[in-house]
Amino acid sequence: MDFNLSDSQKMLQNMVKEIALKEVAPRAAEVDRTGSFPLENVKVLAKYNLLGVPFPVEYGGAGADMVSYAITIEELAQVCASTAFICAVHAVPAFCLQLSGSEEQKRRYLTQLANGSKLGAFALTEPNAGSDAAAIQTEAKLEGDEYVLNGSKCFITNAGYADIYVVFASTDKSKGARGISAFIVERGVKGLSFGRIEDKLGLRGSANGEVLLRDCRIPKENLIGREGEGLRIALAALDRARIGGAALGVGIAQAALNAAKDYAKKRVQFGQPIANLQAIQFMIADMATRVEAARLLTYRAARLADEGKRFTREAAMAKLYASEVAMKVTVDAVQIHGGYGLSKDWPVERYMRDAKAVAIIEGTSEIQRLVIARSELA
Ligand SMILES: Cc1cc2nc3c(=O)[nH]c(=O)nc-3n(C[C@H](O)[C@H](O)[C@H](O)COP(=O)(O)OP(=O)(O)OC[C@H]3O[C@@H](n4cnc5c(N)ncnc54)[C@H](O)[C@@H]3O)c2cc1C
Repeated sequence: MDFNLSDSQKMLQNMVKEIALKEVAPRAAEVDRTGSFPLENVKVLAKYNLLGVPFPVEYGGAGADMVSYAITIEELAQVCASTAFICAVHAVPAFCLQLSGSEEQKRRYLTQLANGSKLGAFALTEPNAGSDAAAIQTEAKLEGDEYVLNGSKCFITNAGYADIYVVFASTDKSKGARGISAFIVERGVKGLSFGRIEDKLGLRGSANGEVLLRDCRIPKENLIGREGEGLRIALAALDRARIGGAALGVGIAQAALNAAKDYAKKRVQFGQPIANLQAIQFMIADMATRVEAARLLTYRAARLADEGKRFTREAAMAKLYASEVAMKVTVDAVQIHGGYGLSKDWPVERYMRDAKAVAIIEGTSEIQRLVIARSELA
């Protein structure tokens, strides 16, 4: 497999790096400190069409590929993981529509998501259904020409800020996982409201909150695919989302590595920069090796997706490994900074808190291991 980036992928990488540094980075520490949703950063992403990178031009996207999507998330994550995560999750409902939506749904909703005029959210998790997504209790009943949705979602990224929600609900509880269906719910529709936003350890700007459905009526045309296909639609979108999650981990880890290298070269102890100490050098060497390996796994999964090959196992491996690398590398970066590593005046403690979230989003590390083991033992 050729791991070299194409000219257009390199151009995108340079462009996102520049935008991220100039227009996203200045707000990153404040977004983390206040836990506020970075609306201005989202506008920047929309302005440069970074919310629609992997979607076809005919549906408002940039017409690039999944490798480009990974590069975009990685570059954004190097400066503001919350903004990168918002961008990554925005693509998940769009993946649902791209892979399973009708032509009419793609024209109307995918286009608005891909051109950045509307923000998206993916509403699967419930208070009693996290890893066990098939246990969701939200119900959708067909009444005439409308579905009536009732239930509560939690931890939903972009909750309250998103305009278009892909919501999963059971249309037939007797069928369990095969009774789950996917629906498009637009903000502003009667019966849709938003509850508490979590005050989180990491990814503090991403607005993870409750999405409440109380006799929420939507046209029956808002069903994606057919009744009972919801879980399949969610899992297919999550395969792609995990490439974004992996890229998020790679970006956070790269930022921590860069910070650690800079600091080690400048910090003088015992009459010399600590970068001269072999203990620090070995730590940096291991950090760099891990980041590179995580990046290669991520690009490989993305490339397989672009080639139309199966990539469920590879996306799970990339997400699992990149999240573990992000945690290890950020902890090491804090260690290299000594006491200053714990100070909010330096960014590495933020990287460490953001890294923890990567092992939980889009399926925990344990769920990634289940996916990988299932494939290995099949
Ligand atoms: C920052 C953030 C953003 C999120 N964004 C969204 C979103 O946009 N949309 C959405 O729908 N959800 C979202 N979530 C929810 C997320 O998908 C869930 O938190 C995740 O799937 C885990 O579910 P849970 O928190 O209920 O943990 P649980 O499922 O209760 O798991 C608790 C622990 O048990 C382990 N465990 C569970 N089952 C097994 C098993 N079979 N084998 C081994 N170990 C197991 C887990 O790995 C974990 O360690 C988000 C969560 C976070 C933190």
